[in-house]
Amino acid sequence: EKFVEVKNLRKVYDNGYEAIKDVSFSVKKGDLVCLLGPSGCGKTTILNMLAGLLFPTSGDILFDGKSVVKTEPKDRQIGYVFQNYALYPHMTVLQNVMFPLTVGKNKIAKDEAEKIARKYMELTQITDFANQRPGSLSGGQQQRVAITRALVQEPKILLMDEPLSNLDARLRLKIREEIRALVKKVGITTLFVTHDQEEALSIGDKIILFNDGVIQQDDMGQNFYLEP
Ligand code: ADP
Ligand code: ADP
Repeated sequence: EKFVEVKNLRKVYDNGYEAIKDVSFSVKKGDLVCLLGPSGCGKTTILNMLAGLLFPTSGDILFDGKSVVKTEPKDRQIGYVFQNYALYPHMTVLQNVMFPLTVGKNKIAKDEAEKIARKYMELTQITDFANQRPGSLSGGQQQRVAITRALVQEPKILLMDEPLSNLDARLRLKIREEIRALVKKVGITTLFVTHDQEEALSIGDKIILFNDGVIQQDDMGQNFYLEP
């Protein structure tokens, strides 16, 4: 039932700043959970600890009942989509999407990687741009490439850090519908970080309201109240 479990997590940065103060929450398998809170409240810090990019000061993180705090990032089966897409500018779209499958100790043959990449590119409708470089694509198209690159590894958990914040308002509405439809189709457990209440309400199965390193409200449905 609890697919992701965060227990009494704390993070004190090297400069002594306590960014995360005793945070606990859980995510059910297949759920799309929004972590909602203002800029600087610690959302990225939490995602980075889940992804293994940052070591918690104390507390535990469990995936499927197993502690992952001591596992390598690459062994956590996490897909991470960043605010700024973080695509490789010198590679084509197809090469970007294939890349995670062709490196590391679990790498597979190029032709097999291409087959998997193309399957997901079909799903996210970026096949038409396969041979273009990211720089020639719109923000929304680049974000789809970044999501596709995260999905090809067939991760168990998808982390998205403000994935819509670099898009214009009109595109934001469209891409957020696409993201929700896509993660539901793939059935992947997703943690979606945003500072936008309206966005969280429209996309999340559940919202965790976060501020100043602590959870203010957990498991909010569609009828919660935020101070204006
Ligand atoms: P959010 O993603 O919600 O904007 P962050 O997790 O990026 O918040 O940051 C939370 C707080 O921790 C902020 O006050 C930020 O300045 C601080 N912070 C982030 N990274 C570091 C760091 N490496 N060292 C010290 N403080 C940091
Ligand atoms: P975000 O856009 O996610 O809020 P920030 O702009 O807060 O990110 O931070 C960008 C980078 O700078 C991150 O890698 C973060 O860890 C680092 N950082 C943020 N605040 C501080 C800080 N006070 N001291 C050191 N590093 C920081």
